[in-house]
Amino acid sequence: MATLKIVQVGDPVLRRKARPLPLDELASPGIQQLIALMRATMRDAPGVGLAAPQVDESLQITVIEDAAHLMAGLTREQLAEREREPVPFHVLVNPTLEFDGDEMVEAFEGCLSFAGFVMVVPRARRVRVTAVDEHGQPVSITARGWYARILQHEIDHLNGIVCCDRMDARTLTTAENFARNWRTASVAEVRARLDRGD
Ligand code: ZN
Repeated sequence: MATLKIVQVGDPVLRRKARPLPLDELASPGIQQLIALMRATMRDAPGVGLAAPQVDESLQITVIEDAAHLMAGLTREQLAEREREPVPFHVLVNPTLEFDGDEMVEAFEGCLSFAGFVMVVPRARRVRVTAVDEHGQPVSITARGWYARILQHEIDHLNGIVCCDRMDARTLTTAENFARNWRTASVAEVRARLDRGD
């Protein structure tokens, strides 16, 4: 299937608040085709989520899928630290998100619209999301750990927010340098090394 071009940070569309979709428009062939193309684009990238503004459509649509094969490079300890488990493909339209408690967690994350870099971003450990799916059916989600992180990242995109807005700036690293220097370190170890300057 064809894929869409993913726009990069600095493109004004990433800074707009995306337009909510009326249900009749959601059912239209054009929007259903857009959702199919977003799924193909996310899988091709590959990524664990994609929001419509990232493909230059300022609409409140996001697709999410955290497939098991994307976790192949992570150890069991790393998966446990991130609370990362497979999430099946699903579509969220017009989502609203709220934190479920005030516990925050930190991890390196990246963005398909900030290609080639990763950064430590604090996120709520638990969230609640309400939305409708691609058929207009109500969806209610409670999530924690990595899935909660994905939800916050993607719904941020629908509000004109990019992960670099929330990052600990001194942890910004190219993906190559992340692999070379930081991949096996916990966020606490990263902080300690940055503080020591080694
Ligand atoms: Zn992103």
